[in-house]
Amino acid sequence: MLKHDVLILGGGPSGLSTALHLARDYPHLAPRILILEKAHYPRVKLCAGGLVADAEVILERLGLDVTEIPHVDVDTAHFDFAGKGLSLRMPGKHTIRVIRRNEFDAWMAEKTKEKSIEIREGITVKDIKTYDDHVKVETDAGTFIAQIVVGADGSNGVTRRCVLPHAPVYTARALEVITPVFDYAETPQKSNHKENHAYFDFLPVPDNIAGYTWDFPTLVDGQPMRCWGIYDTNLLANDSRPALKELLAQEMARHGFDLNAVELKGHPIRWFSPGNQMSVPRILLVGDAAGADPIFGEGISIALGYGAVAAREVGEAFQRNEFSFNGYKRRVMRSALGQTLFVRWFLTHTVYPLKWRWFQSILWRFLKPFVVVISWIFILNWGKRLK
Ligand SMILES: Cc1cc2nc3c(=O)[nH]c(=O)nc-3n(C[C@H](O)[C@H](O)[C@H](O)COP(=O)(O)OP(=O)(O)OC[C@H]3O[C@@H](n4cnc5c(N)ncnc54)[C@H](O)[C@@H]3O)c2cc1C
Repeated sequence: MLKHDVLILGGGPSGLSTALHLARDYPHLAPRILILEKAHYPRVKLCAGGLVADAEVILERLGLDVTEIPHVDVDTAHFDFAGKGLSLRMPGKHTIRVIRRNEFDAWMAEKTKEKSIEIREGITVKDIKTYDDHVKVETDAGTFIAQIVVGADGSNGVTRRCVLPHAPVYTARALEVITPVFDYAETPQKSNHKENHAYFDFLPVPDNIAGYTWDFPTLVDGQPMRCWGIYDTNLLANDSRPALKELLAQEMARHGFDLNAVELKGHPIRWFSPGNQMSVPRILLVGDAAGADPIFGEGISIALGYGAVAAREVGEAFQRNEFSFNGYKRRVMRSALGQTLFVRWFLTHTVYPLKWRWFQSILWRFLKPFVVVISWIFILNWGKRLK
C-alpha cells in the first residue's frame, strides 16, 4: 500500500489549483502531494471554455499566463432575450477569454508537475473510506493510504458519493456542439452573430428552462469554430418543459445552423447551494464536487477559487496536526468565493422563477444599468478579493 500526506482525486482546474496553491503557500508540502487522474492529458472535457477575468486573476497570482495556450479573446458579450438585449465590453481589454479544456487542463497539469508535484494519470478511483487516522482510497491500480484527501473529481465524482451519500444534490443539464463558423445548413438565413462576440440568450426561460443558450467563438486545433450550447439549472423542473435539444436546435436554426448535422454532447453540472456539505473529517471537496455557479454554470474560475481556499485549509490543518476540516465550509462562505456563490444562488432563485416573457424581455433589454451594477459588484471582481 502506498502512503501519502495529501491525495488529490481529479486533475481538473480545482484539483490542480489546490496543488498549485499548496506549492506556493506551503512549499514543504509539495513533495507530499499526489494527484490521481483517471484520464491522460490532454483529455477531453465537455466545456465551452469561457474564462472570466476572475479566473485570470487567480492564475496570474500563481504566476501563470493563460495566453501561453491557444485562445480567443471575446471583445463583447451579449446578454439577450430573443436576440435583443445588453452588450458588455471591458474598456481596453477582452471581456471573456475562450480556451479549449483539453489544452487548458494539460497546460495547468504541466505547470503543476514543474512544481515537483506528482500526477499519476490513467488511475480511476473506485471507493473511499475514512478512518480516525487515515483515508483509504481504492483504485483500479491498487490501494492508496493518505492523511487527507481532496475530492476534485467533478460533478459526477466518486468522492462525494462515497463520503456524503445522502446529501441532496442540485444538478444542472448542459448540452454542447461545435460547428464551423459559417452557415452549416442549407437554410437561407445567415447568422448575425459577430466573429469575436459571445452570446447568451435567455429565450428558453418562459419554456421553464431556467437557463440560456450560448454561442461562443472558439479555436479547435487552431481552426476558428463556434461552440453552441444550452444550460438548464433544472430549477423549474416541476413544470412541463420541451426537450432541451429542441430549444437549442431552434436557436441554432435562427442562425442558419442545423443541430442534427453535428455531434451533440451533454454533461451535468453540480451547483452550489448554501446547504451543500463540503467536508467530512480528513476529506474536503473542491470545484464541481463542492458546487459550481448556479446562475450560468460558470465553474472554471470557481474551481480555481476553491483551490485557493482549500489549500489554506489544508496547510493550516497540517500546521495544527488536526484534520477534522469542520471549519472548511465557514472558510469558503466567508471568502470572496463564498460571497459570490451565495449571491449567484440567490439571483438564480429570484431571476429564473420570474419566467414571464415580458419580464425577461424587460430585464435584458431595458434594465442594463441595474444588471451591470449587480453583476459588477456581486458576480464579477471577486478574484481580486480572494485571499
Ligand atoms: C457543457 C458545459 C459547458 C461549460 N462551459 C463553461 C464555461 O464556458 N466556463 C466555465 O467557467 N465553466 C463552464 N462549465 C463548467 C466547468 O466545466 C466546470 O465547472 C469545471 O470543469 C469544474 O472543474 P473541476 O476541476 O471541479 O472538475 P472537472 O473539470 O470535471 O475535473 C474533474 C477531474 O477528475 C477526474 N476524475 C473524475 N472521476 C475520477 C475518478 N473516479 N478517478 C480519478 N479521476 C477522476 C476527471 O477525469 C477530471 O479530470 C461548463 C460545463 C459544461 C458541462
